[in-house]
Amino acid sequence: MIPAKSYAAYDNQSPLRPLDLARRDPGPNDVAIDITHCGICHSDLHFVHNDLGNSLYPLVPGHEIVGHVAQVGSEVTRFKAGDRVGVGCMVNSCRTCAACQRGEEQYCQNFVGTYGAEDRDGTRTQGGYATAVTVDEHFVLRIPDGMPMDQTAPLLCAGITTYSPLRTWQAGPGPRVAVVGLGGLGHMAVKRAAAMGADVTVDSTSDGKKADALKMGASDFLVSADKPAMAAAASRFDLIINTVSATHELNSHLGLLAPDGTMVMLGLTTEAMPVSALPLIMGRRRLAGSLIGGIAETQEMLDFCAKHGILSDVEVIAADQINVAYERLMKSDVRYRFVIDTATMA
Ligand code: NAP
Ligand code: ZN
Ligand code: ZN
Repeated sequence: MIPAKSYAAYDNQSPLRPLDLARRDPGPNDVAIDITHCGICHSDLHFVHNDLGNSLYPLVPGHEIVGHVAQVGSEVTRFKAGDRVGVGCMVNSCRTCAACQRGEEQYCQNFVGTYGAEDRDGTRTQGGYATAVTVDEHFVLRIPDGMPMDQTAPLLCAGITTYSPLRTWQAGPGPRVAVVGLGGLGHMAVKRAAAMGADVTVDSTSDGKKADALKMGASDFLVSADKPAMAAAASRFDLIINTVSATHELNSHLGLLAPDGTMVMLGLTTEAMPVSALPLIMGRRRLAGSLIGGIAETQEMLDFCAKHGILSDVEVIAADQINVAYERLMKSDVRYRFVIDTATMA
């Protein structure tokens, strides 16, 4: 076994505390990774707080993992010791169903989440707020040369979760895109959509992040409570990427869609949010959802980011600051992703 230090939630309300883990020695197809950094995604808070009702404790969150390969199994051909690698939200899937065959492992009925899930060998997965992890090579990504590890970690979830719908709904030159919520996912969506050539507007709860949004590549900024500004923006956008992490009012955002436009929901909100038929009918608008992205698409996203110089804006923290970071994230006080330096756990 490979010993690892980690930070875990022991229930849905206490602060996270240290936990010693034993990671499996690499099997033939496994890659053992020394983790250098792990991003804090808002999904980690949802799972720690048991918002989805299926959390198992102790739970080590973290699915924005980067590090170096420590050792590889006998059959591994794509990686060697020392390589810079990343792991996102999945560590296994069935490999045989139609979704897996299409390279959309995230829609496999049996995909295994990086933490809080039962792995295919019967053990419980634990995430990346830790010093080491062992993962099947199929779910290990290569980090292109020159990308700093800390600013790359958030690409493994926030990056791919926004890249996939921007690509699916073709946010190239021409379409007007709005991003609702400027947090970890939102800031990646803005940078990426701008790099794809789209005209991007940010739709936020206050004007506090306006200067940052314009620097990231947005051409305009809307405050959702500003009714005249929202009315003036009616029917303006072909695609809305909605990254809001809490229950919120949807119909005013649907009204911003142009005819045939689509709003893609990304936030893992669990309460129902009322949708009126009228804004959908008037303009054949669509409401959709999207889950992370496949492994091949994640590598494509990393290579796209390397080519276009896209990185996450991060606040690097020590492990003993995780609980403060959680409190700030609950208040949307993040610019724009907290990333744990896992060397501070040793
Ligand atoms: P985050 O960094 O906390 O950002 C969320 C943003 O939502 C905030 O910065 C804030 O933006 C806005 N917001 C928060 N509460 C709000 C409210 N009550 N009303 C309106 N706006 C509000 O979170 P994140 O890490 O980007 O994650 C966003 C959501 O996506 C979470 O629910 C997360 O679990 C989910 N997620 C889903 C997937 C997927 O595959 N679908 C993957 C990863 C994460 P402003 O400050 O601009 O108002
Ligand atoms: Zn995430
Ligand atoms: Zn499958």
